[in-house]
Amino acid sequence: MRKLLRTIFLVDLAQGLWVTFRSQSTKNIYTEQYPAERPKVAERYRGAPRLNNNPDTGETLCICCDLCGFACPEQLIVVSSVRNPETRRKELTNFTYDVSRCMFCGLCEDACPVDCLELTQDFEIAQYSREGLIWDRQMLEEGPKPTQYSS
Ligand code: SF4
Ligand code: SF4
Repeated sequence: MRKLLRTIFLVDLAQGLWVTFRSQSTKNIYTEQYPAERPKVAERYRGAPRLNNNPDTGETLCICCDLCGFACPEQLIVVSSVRNPETRRKELTNFTYDVSRCMFCGLCEDACPVDCLELTQDFEIAQYSREGLIWDRQMLEEGPKPTQYSS
């Protein structure tokens, strides 16, 4: 009987409409006005890779150990270096990172013993073609430069 009365008086419909109208309040709108307003990404978000330099000397922190390359399941990192005959240390000559194949798992970042390779919170790395997605050392040190929009 109760069910019949609910059907006759359209109670379920009224309840549904009430939920809809209740959600019309502007305080319930969650749309982000990107790109005018930039979203805050999660602290542990893994985005565009970066090679960090020593902030005091400006020199790369990379010691060319290639651990990041070994750790990468996609084998998309290539570290090139030469050994300095005087210091007997390896010096970085180039570093390539194929962003188009990266799954941002973070294994390379975890393997780096000197916190040189880092997956940053930069998320704007999408583009229309695959060209230019193999980042070299300069690109990795400077980072992406996305267009900045304002409202
Ligand atoms: S994030 Fe993962 S897939 Fe990407 S380079 Fe690092 S280890 Fe390889
Ligand atoms: S693991 Fe770190 S230090 Fe070693 S080659 Fe990669 S970026 Fe350089």
